[in-house]
Amino acid sequence: MTDVIVVGGGPAGVSAALTAKNRGKSVIIISNSMEQSNLWKSKLIENYPGCPNVSGEDILKTFRKQIEDAGIEIINTRALNALQMGKSFSVSCGQEYYECKALILSVGITQQLVYPGEEEFLGRGVSYCATCDGMLYRGKKVAVIGLNEEAASEAEFLRSIGCEVEYFDKVRAKKYEICGNDAVTKLIADDTEYSVDGVFILRSTIAPNNFLSGLTTENGHIAAESSMETSTAGVFAAGDCTGRPYQIARAVGQGNTAALSACEYLDKM
Ligand SMILES: Cc1cc2nc3c(=O)[nH]c(=O)nc-3n(C[C@H](O)[C@H](O)[C@H](O)COP(=O)(O)OP(=O)(O)OC[C@H]3O[C@@H](n4cnc5c(N)ncnc54)[C@H](O)[C@@H]3O)c2cc1C
Repeated sequence: MTDVIVVGGGPAGVSAALTAKNRGKSVIIISNSMEQSNLWKSKLIENYPGCPNVSGEDILKTFRKQIEDAGIEIINTRALNALQMGKSFSVSCGQEYYECKALILSVGITQQLVYPGEEEFLGRGVSYCATCDGMLYRGKKVAVIGLNEEAASEAEFLRSIGCEVEYFDKVRAKKYEICGNDAVTKLIADDTEYSVDGVFILRSTIAPNNFLSGLTTENGHIAAESSMETSTAGVFAAGDCTGRPYQIARAVGQGNTAALSACEYLDKM
């Protein structure tokens, strides 16, 4: 049985796995491919220390190499659910099951409703983060589809940095379609067309509380202490799945904390 299974191989999961390994624990990562990480679609990252002017793809490839060099096994697949069995956990990946004593969930954002064109143009005009991508649209016209509590202030932030913002709250339109060629050129909201260079979709997330029965969530995120312990003993969470802001530096820090807490938990078992 493995000491620690990390579900999700983005910045939070990679950080957690490296720390657990450095603390002498056996660890595996179960994750979708790198290309399926949201970070893969980021063309330019300017706020992650030590890695100036890199793309999401660059960072993920560096992370992957570091994991391989550390001898950490990566199971490239989707984990379907986890079952608690006494003091251990069994993670199902369809035909395969993996057992561990401690589980770290770093599954990123789980999207709710995907609009036509949203996935196609993610990173090419569609963004989920005004702080991350706002500067790319300075002097340009963007639409903000505001479905969460922070959306109005995020739209104000975009205006403050020089974006022309067309704001859609929950009542202004119900149906959206994002159109373009190489990049976004147009948003159709209900039946009206708007010429835009970017579309910010700011929505609540659904936390994977159905991944592990009994896991407490708050506003769609996994509820976690500052130690990254969740409501289930032996289960820790890190990164975007625990809430905002959705940022690499935060995910990496939380991954580190989650792993240290998991090691402490294992040492007391
Ligand atoms: C276009 C774009 C630009 C961005 N730009 C910036 C930026 O400039 N600066 C910045 O700080 N942040 C930026 N971000 C945000 C940043 O990408 C996230 O904050 C960061 O990737 C979060 O890391 P994470 O490990 O929590 O989640 P993720 O990176 O989302 O990783 C989670 C991984 O888990 C996998 N996964 C999920 N569920 C399962 C499952 N059941 N089984 C197996 N695998 C699973 C996912 O496929 C994914 O690979 C940007 C995001 C986007 C989309």
